[in-house]
Amino acid sequence: MKTTTRVCIIGGGVVGASVAYHLTKLGWSDVMLLERSELTSGSTWHAAGGFHTLNGDTNMAALQGYTIRLYRELEELTGMSCGLHHVGGVTLADTPERLDMLKAERAKHRFMGLETEIIGPDEIKALAPITNVEGVLGGLYDPLDGHLDPSGTTHAYARAAKMGGAEIVLHTRVVETNPRPDGTWDVVTDKGTIHAEHVVNAAGLWAREVAAMAGCYLPLHPMEHQYLVTEETPEIYERDSEHPHVMDPSGESYLRQEGRGLCIGFYEKTCRPWAVDGTPWEFGHELLPDDFDKIGDSIAFAFKRFPVLERAGIKSVIHGPFTFAPDGNPLVGPVPRLRNYWSACGVMAGFSQGGGVGLSLAQWMVEGEPERDVMAMDVARFGRWIGPGYTLPKVIENYQTRFSVVYPNEELPAARPHRTTPMYDSFDAMGAVWGQQYGLEVVNYFAEPGEARYETPSFRRSNAWEATAREVRAVRTGVGINELQNFGKYRVTGRDARGWLDRIMAGRIPAPGRLSLTPMLSEKGKIIGDFTVSCLSETEFQLTGSYGAQDYHLRWFDRWLSGDVAVENVSDSRTGFQIAGPRARDLLAAVARQDVSEMRFMDVRRLTIGLSDAIVQRVSYTGDLGYEIYVNAMEQRALWRMLWDKGQAFGIKPFGMRAMMSLRLDRGFGSWMREFSPDYTPAETGLDRFVAWKKPVDFIGRAAAEAERATPPVRRLVTFVVEAEDADVVAYEPIWLDGAVVGFCTSGGYSHWTGQSVAMGFLPAERIVEGLTVEIEILGQMRPARLVTTPLWDDPRLRA
Ligand SMILES: Cc1cc2nc3c(=O)[nH]c(=O)nc-3n(C[C@H](O)[C@H](O)[C@H](O)COP(=O)(O)OP(=O)(O)OC[C@H]3O[C@@H](n4cnc5c(N)ncnc54)[C@H](O)[C@@H]3O)c2cc1C
Repeated sequence: MKTTTRVCIIGGGVVGASVAYHLTKLGWSDVMLLERSELTSGSTWHAAGGFHTLNGDTNMAALQGYTIRLYRELEELTGMSCGLHHVGGVTLADTPERLDMLKAERAKHRFMGLETEIIGPDEIKALAPITNVEGVLGGLYDPLDGHLDPSGTTHAYARAAKMGGAEIVLHTRVVETNPRPDGTWDVVTDKGTIHAEHVVNAAGLWAREVAAMAGCYLPLHPMEHQYLVTEETPEIYERDSEHPHVMDPSGESYLRQEGRGLCIGFYEKTCRPWAVDGTPWEFGHELLPDDFDKIGDSIAFAFKRFPVLERAGIKSVIHGPFTFAPDGNPLVGPVPRLRNYWSACGVMAGFSQGGGVGLSLAQWMVEGEPERDVMAMDVARFGRWIGPGYTLPKVIENYQTRFSVVYPNEELPAARPHRTTPMYDSFDAMGAVWGQQYGLEVVNYFAEPGEARYETPSFRRSNAWEATAREVRAVRTGVGINELQNFGKYRVTGRDARGWLDRIMAGRIPAPGRLSLTPMLSEKGKIIGDFTVSCLSETEFQLTGSYGAQDYHLRWFDRWLSGDVAVENVSDSRTGFQIAGPRARDLLAAVARQDVSEMRFMDVRRLTIGLSDAIVQRVSYTGDLGYEIYVNAMEQRALWRMLWDKGQAFGIKPFGMRAMMSLRLDRGFGSWMREFSPDYTPAETGLDRFVAWKKPVDFIGRAAAEAERATPPVRRLVTFVVEAEDADVVAYEPIWLDGAVVGFCTSGGYSHWTGQSVAMGFLPAERIVEGLTVEIEILGQMRPARLVTTPLWDDPRLRA
């Protein structure tokens, strides 16, 4: 065994083996994989080996497509068999809502190049004859679905890694991971210590324990899972071809052929978490005891859907644990606050996702960043606030809803309310209908007395319509008030603060008393943040960005921190309200001790508001005359009382996120992780107008952004007015022109103020012309849409 290595991977399941292979593939051959037992000794050996591309997140679906296509390559490279069965699969829909969901998925697949299709009950019956299609409205067929041999595949990855120079060390358990001051690690095993430049935690069922060795908490938890294998069944073995997979969400089951019989697994509502207090080190190649009671209802349902099962005897039961993160997606990437420590954990579908996880992590380590946006599985998507108390109920909920319809406006109930601001009880008493962001309760809208306190989950327009329209009107005609809690806020101080901001942000850093908007770019010129920078003094700035990206952004700030600069996350300690609308200035004047009439658009001032010293910025995402007023969180309620009381004279009304997202459409403002994400560049999205090309600073991403400037992008973000009916664009709907898919939507919704359905999305640059008519596929229907190049609404008072 070597005693020094560039990368030490802890864990020889399918994920660790995939990471090892991809690192060597990208050119890092000095890689060691340490496995405490044999390869596959965690969840991997007892997996059912199924794989599929379906995933609500488009980038995850693309990575699943990559994983599935990789297996043939792996077989050719190693000469080993992965035991592939590319039999295709169909996901059933027996409610209109589920069919809507599948149609929306199908539409996304069009521009991703995935050949799925919606099929009817007769086609389902022809394809998968053991299915009772009574009540089935249709299904989504995916030819890429299939299954494989979990052990063979893991060994093929390991062989491929060895061929690339990696060392696979078995029967060696990591017992400690100790950081050195230079950022490298001592990995202590029961066979000796290895000095590693990088550590990858791919310890699957033991990932929590391995993370704790580095002093960190990874939000994942194991759940029990059970599948049954039947005796030989004539309806199966008499067929000429292998039976395809059938996913039956109503029955919470997946079914496939296994040899001459069937295999069926369940995601039962009556599920059970496993090893709540930690995974025992002695657990290995054993299974959990059979538990038919737990899956009794699911089995009864399956007998109706697949009557053949009732006659088929059960040959074996596989009941084992595997891990989930709170949202069911993996935890991948550099672990915030640790140097050279990487996570490849929480992979609940190792055979659909393992290849994509390995590729993305290897690109991150070798090339500095993954080629596509992997926010859906970034380990930094959960903040410091998360702990085992929150993770467990969320993981249970995720398991229970694994097969549920996922609605774009849905708010899941588990582990809530967890984090609340001082305004929670007051807003609740005012009729708040709550949403959740980054663990925090945020107001989606306010229901009036007599209106439901619950938004109906739907792909179509929901019961929030009236309330949203009401709040939008209140802002545009009077003054609206909205809590500022859901911004990520950072206080940047020090002698070198300006220089540091100039380097880390692509945009102009403003003069004292002024604000600027700026993209933050990765080294490859991708958008990794869109911020407002306000200069309070030459040594003190405030940054505001996405609340949900706090750990993501802090990890980046930490990486580049140098000189006399301190970055303090004040997201929760500095809060307040924005007031927006034609009467906003009157209200500010009524509460501020100083004269605010001279405050220009994009000015920042320290003002005395009531009892508080406030930072006031004249800017508003609503596109209206507006001010953001920040105070210490301890003073938020006093600020509220002052604004609310004085605001009565101006018709003040509270508004929530639904109204905010409608208002931004009037002006065509993009938003984080919709229009602005690491998948896109400044020139593609129009954020290049905020890049300070003339500043004499080699800001991060400059070379890439300059190169793009010299060769303009082939696609650009544009806005459309859509002839929608009862459903608006959400995201990733395909855009059709001349019978072909030429682009996709990034987001959309209904602009209540202008009375139009709006979509934003990418089109080939050469096709962009005012008035161009395209078609956008919304829930399987082609909707005419007209391209607009100017904002739908503009009001001079914004800058007056
Ligand atoms: C019943 C069942 C059916 C499933 N069916 C499917 C399916 O059809 N399709 C699908 O995609 N997924 C399925 N899964 C999930 C799949 O098994 C997991 O996604 C996958 O195995 C996760 O792999 P991993 O490498 O992350 O973790 P693991 O397989 O748990 O591997 C972790 C490895 O790390 C090693 N290790 C841990 N700690 C240390 C240490 N300190 N030192 C050295 N080594 C260490 C362990 O020994 C182990 O080998 C199923 C799971 C179950 C339980």
